[in-house]
Amino acid sequence: MPTSPVHDRLAAVRARVDDAATAAGRDPADVRLLLATKTQEAESVLAAVAAATSLAASRGDDGPVLLGENRVQELVAKAPALAGPVAAGRVEVHMIGNLQRNKINQMLPTVTGLETVDRSSLADAVAERAARAARVLDVMVQVNVSGEESKSGVAPSDAVALARHVAALDGLRLAGFMTIGARTDDRTAVRAGFSTLRAIRDEVVASGAPGTSEARELSMGMSGDLELAVAEDATIVRVGTAVFGARPPV
Ligand SMILES: *Cc1c(COP(=O)(O)O)cnc(C)c1O
Repeated sequence: MPTSPVHDRLAAVRARVDDAATAAGRDPADVRLLLATKTQEAESVLAAVAAATSLAASRGDDGPVLLGENRVQELVAKAPALAGPVAAGRVEVHMIGNLQRNKINQMLPTVTGLETVDRSSLADAVAERAARAARVLDVMVQVNVSGEESKSGVAPSDAVALARHVAALDGLRLAGFMTIGARTDDRTAVRAGFSTLRAIRDEVVASGAPGTSEARELSMGMSGDLELAVAEDATIVRVGTAVFGARPPV
């Protein structure tokens, strides 16, 4: 078993997720890790992918390693290094940061999913570009469950309507929902936000509206709050610092 700092940190995060899933009566295999790679050079991303692949293999999981990028500029810079693994189906890349309309075409060739659709105009623009590129892009609706002004995301009260809009568009497949947990030490408040996202997901999936039946993903939980998210049915937890170490201040 090869070990390296990134391998050891990944194993520790995976153990946290497994413990939280087991405590919630869930199958740990139903929770995937997404490695949030912002500010990491391509070289360290590839090292983390290798570690994640070997860790997954030791668990009998041969699925792709999931990466998340926040900025199109960084995504494009790392695209050459990731092209091979993505083409081989060994890596999937999700956009997890705010997306401007004028960056959609730059983003599309490198991503397998977009987690940050928070308004219908953006959904329409991405759908149109994806359809033109003969793609069907997996997307999630980002919801601002905490109501913090600094956070992106549609308001919970508008999330179901946006999801139904997205689900009906050619060029997009509604995969589920994403949120960033409240920035507070109040664990009850953080968990309540994750519970809100879960309720939105359940309402949409149960709605019977076109394109909604597969929208089961809940991308929520980060290095500091992933246990609370797993307890509320997270299917993807997005981890950065717990895997790569602290980021330099920006
Ligand atoms: C940076 C980031 C993460 C990971 O955060 P950590 O606290 O470093 O684990 C997850 N999601 C999004 C959207 C991020 O920008």
